[in-house]
Amino acid sequence: MRKKIVAGNWKMNLTLAQGEQLINDILQAGLKLGEGQEVVIATPFPYLMKAKSLVKNYPGFYVAAQNCYTEKSGAFTGEVSAEMLQSVGVDYVILGHSERREYFQEGNDMLAKKIDQVLANGLKPIFCCGEPLLVREAGTQNTYVAAQLEDSLFHLTAEQLKQVVIAYEPIWAIGTGLTASAAQAQDMHAFIRSQIASKYGREAALHLTILYGGSAKPGNAEELFACPDVDGGLIGGASLVAKDFVAIVEKLA
Ligand code: 13P
Repeated sequence: MRKKIVAGNWKMNLTLAQGEQLINDILQAGLKLGEGQEVVIATPFPYLMKAKSLVKNYPGFYVAAQNCYTEKSGAFTGEVSAEMLQSVGVDYVILGHSERREYFQEGNDMLAKKIDQVLANGLKPIFCCGEPLLVREAGTQNTYVAAQLEDSLFHLTAEQLKQVVIAYEPIWAIGTGLTASAAQAQDMHAFIRSQIASKYGREAALHLTILYGGSAKPGNAEELFACPDVDGGLIGGASLVAKDFVAIVEKLA
């Protein structure tokens, strides 16, 4: 059975006090996580240690960073290494978010190096992929996403791939209120799983957790999570409101 995950990506939002309150509200909501279900909270870097200390006695709750650097250590002012994240108790690292790709010029090759750093330090990458609107309109989204997977992930061994979570986030659905329909999400998730199957085999593909991201909210999460290849969500805006985030977690099948 593969893991089901709802991950909240706070992006560059909230103060420490607001973040602490949000995590406490989520923890106090009395969520009952089923077997193999996880909640992951991706805070800005300065709050990670605090976030970890808040969730550590709650089984199934984990903490993620939103990025890390390509190199192990050294003269890279302002950057944060995977080893540093590991040393403060981080569990997951989001990599390749479309905002990083667009505003910080992160390409598939750079992301392959970041994945290697994360795995080398015993952390789990949440690797984001997804096409822009023009690609979707041209109907070439499968080719586009296949190249993202191939260029950033396919150098991994089968053993390494077991640590990876993939998040499909169509760029046209992020923060726009436009959600991919359940059918569009299911089609792409099934395609991603088929790509993994052809490279790593059926077992590896069945084991892989694939999250959907892009305007997911309490009102559409149930339909999205009911799709056979959608294993949870990567939530932006709705992860900043405790009751909405909790309601989405409750929709995990
Ligand atoms: P929204 O849920 O705000 O559309 O953001 C999705 C996202 O980018 C999560 O990483």
